[in-house]
Amino acid sequence: MGSYDNVAIIGGGMAGLRLAEKLAGSDIYVTLYEGKRDVSYLADRASGVLSVSGVNRLGIDYSGALKNVLDGAVIYSSRQQMKVVSEKPQAYVLDRKLLIKEAYANAKRAGANIVLGKRLDEAELNSLDDGKTVIVGADGPASSVAKAFGFTPIKEFLLTYKAVYENVNYPESSIVRLFFDNAISKGLFGWLIPYSNDRIELGLGVSEKTKGNSKQAFEKFVKNSNIHAIVDSRKASSEYASVIPIGARRVTVKGNVLLVGDAAGQTKATTGGGLIFGLSCADVALQSIVNAFKNGRPLSDYERSWRKLYGLDLNMHRRLQSYYSNLDNRSIDRALYLLKKLGFDSFLSKHGDMDSIKTMMKRAFIRK
Ligand SMILES: Cc1cc2nc3c(=O)[nH]c(=O)nc-3n(C[C@H](O)[C@H](O)[C@H](O)COP(=O)(O)OP(=O)(O)OC[C@H]3O[C@@H](n4cnc5c(N)ncnc54)[C@H](O)[C@@H]3O)c2cc1C
Repeated sequence: MGSYDNVAIIGGGMAGLRLAEKLAGSDIYVTLYEGKRDVSYLADRASGVLSVSGVNRLGIDYSGALKNVLDGAVIYSSRQQMKVVSEKPQAYVLDRKLLIKEAYANAKRAGANIVLGKRLDEAELNSLDDGKTVIVGADGPASSVAKAFGFTPIKEFLLTYKAVYENVNYPESSIVRLFFDNAISKGLFGWLIPYSNDRIELGLGVSEKTKGNSKQAFEKFVKNSNIHAIVDSRKASSEYASVIPIGARRVTVKGNVLLVGDAAGQTKATTGGGLIFGLSCADVALQSIVNAFKNGRPLSDYERSWRKLYGLDLNMHRRLQSYYSNLDNRSIDRALYLLKKLGFDSFLSKHGDMDSIKTMMKRAFIRK
């Protein structure tokens, strides 16, 4: 038997709630503290595009939250565009509020203690550190747990802005559009995510290193002729600014404290998507905590295991993002032109994987 007798999870986002549900289901006493009174309070700040393969692998019950199904993308640079359409659905667009409400209900049902409206400060976090408690920081990009326990900082953040538009005419409702323009959204891209034929989300991310302002960048983005043709002079029905960490922290376990999800920086740097990797790492954390409780294994197993499973992919996403962030628009044009010439669109249609570059390469080069 290990020396721990309970787990305290800080943060009731998707990663914290999933871990709470599974720990409670493994008969481990778990208390989750969430700063907001309602777990869905922050949900609309983010988009809900999740790969079909990731959702299936993680067994996420998405049925009640499904808004749309995507099977393709058009990628734009200033002068080029490339369309990639797959024969099978590639991604779900999910309602983040409904998704997190479901995750909350599941954690409650499994028997997790959930304390809402309790934002722990540094003194309260330190008081949890009694030698018997495993402390999990699932408290998002500005993790207080990471600060309180002296973890190395996350090196880069993307500043985001997104808005929803109603009553538009968007016939290709299974196609997402991505706009690479380093004069506006350096560090990421602009996106158009369809919810349906007449409801879309527009958004973008910009590296905070550029000292950019995401709202100002967004105002320029909606003037893009391809976007303007769709939204015209309509006003958004909702708008949110937020932040995405990119690049995992150098260390994610210290003694009895571990970090998961955005708190650990477990996001795909190329897209800012954090749910599939964050939840996958929450499952790895579950295994390590169960092993610490039942077999006395060190919690540092978590660090080794998640890096072994997902470290290479997260690294490749980070390198790719860092590469295209440093291109000027002419070079992006040239790159897209070349990719089309080389048939990269049909390569992606056949072998594309939204999450795992490693899997995509294997599919392309290793024949069974
Ligand atoms: C604009 C945007 C679009 C995105 N689109 C996608 C997408 O399409 N697909 C995708 O997979 N991902 C997307 N993401 C990323 C995804 O939303 C995050 O990776 C995910 O929400 C991280 O979940 P989490 O549980 O780790 O952290 P969070 O969701 O940030 O949850 C952390 C929780 O901790 C709480 N908290 C913080 N400090 C304390 C404290 N001291 N005490 C108690 N509680 C505390 C907060 O209130 C919060 O509820 C997007 C993000 C943004 C900003």
